[in-house]
Amino acid sequence: MLVKEEKKLMTYKNFPMVPRVVFGRGSFNQLDEILSPKRRNPQASFIFLVDDVFKGKAWLTSRIPLSYGDEILYISAKEEPKTSQVDEIVEQIILSSKERPSGIIGVGGGTILDLAKAVSILLTNEGSASEYQGWDLVKNPAIYHVGIPTISGTGAEVSRTTVLTGPDRKLGINSDYTPFDQVILDPELTKDVPRQQWFYTGMDCYIHCVESLNGTYLNAFSQSYGEKAFELCKEIFVYDKLSEKETQDKLMMASWHGGMSIAYSQVGVAHAMSYGLSYLLGTKHGIGNCIVFDHLEEFYPNGVALFKDMKKKHSIELPQGICENLNDDEFDIMINVALSLVPLWENAIGKDWKKTITPEKLRSLYEKM
Ligand code: NAD
Ligand code: ZN
Repeated sequence: MLVKEEKKLMTYKNFPMVPRVVFGRGSFNQLDEILSPKRRNPQASFIFLVDDVFKGKAWLTSRIPLSYGDEILYISAKEEPKTSQVDEIVEQIILSSKERPSGIIGVGGGTILDLAKAVSILLTNEGSASEYQGWDLVKNPAIYHVGIPTISGTGAEVSRTTVLTGPDRKLGINSDYTPFDQVILDPELTKDVPRQQWFYTGMDCYIHCVESLNGTYLNAFSQSYGEKAFELCKEIFVYDKLSEKETQDKLMMASWHGGMSIAYSQVGVAHAMSYGLSYLLGTKHGIGNCIVFDHLEEFYPNGVALFKDMKKKHSIELPQGICENLNDDEFDIMINVALSLVPLWENAIGKDWKKTITPEKLRSLYEKM
């Protein structure tokens, strides 16, 4: 019996990584040479899911190599991605394509990257995206999919999940088939990110590091990536001695390392509570994390103190009072979403997290936001 228990404890995560990655300014130009060998036949097109912020931006769109029946679908990133949106895009692709596409290429931030991952899965797996929210529910390998981030911080380019808001929950499709087959990291693509958004998405990376490095799931693997990402975040957001290009390069690598860190540990309190905000109020991930993290001194004293310094340094004013007019039912919805994220709490507080993380406790925190 004891031997069996010990064996169970010895089971470690065997997680998939992105098998191919290009990094470098201007590497976006290599897209054609990367994709060409992956075209199955002239009828099997490539579908580019592109953030609609790039519509009419020829410096980017003219470099998307379109041939045969390849198509660009412009997609808004104003709202968090939804399972219904994935279903609609999949239906649109099936109806307009002669056969299964050769690949899906996502060009954008976390929102577009997550949609690209989910669409590539749903093109080979029947039913609605909502049926696959959870852990390891995907049965068939996704079609070839490529991620090209245009804003840095989420780590979505490297992760094993695609976070979606579904009919009854906000939860990722976590599976071995989720990670991209190819990622192109071209920091130049981030040059026009608006300043506030740059901060919010960058802070997503910073918060990944704080939550990973201060969690009970921490191990040497996640620590080594987390510490590197944390240092890079400090270089970028605190010391502020870098050129614009260095900042873009380093934040792109911080995002990657932060994503690698949480892949082998977990996020924590800010993410659990931010999912609640996002589910009820539609608050976007980056800003939602910032709003929550600002009030988490008791959990992450050093991390929050430094966050407040960075906020000040970059003149960021976070929205206040977003929970002011919520009723009891609405608070309960957010609290239940947050409490359902068991691994996040276990990582943050430990196995007996339920002793301190009660609905009342979460209500008192949400009331401050
Ligand atoms: P985003 O994709 O939502 O984009 C934020 C804003 O920046 C949008 O208005 C977008 O149009 C704009 N933008 C993006 N690139 C730009 C550019 N180069 N120039 C000008 N504007 C640009 O932002 P995000 O913070 O990267 O992504 C958030 C999403 O990522 C959330 O949906 C979240 O759930 C998800 N996420 C996923 C993971 C994962 O592991 N899969 C991890 C963290 C977050
Ligand atoms: Zn995050």
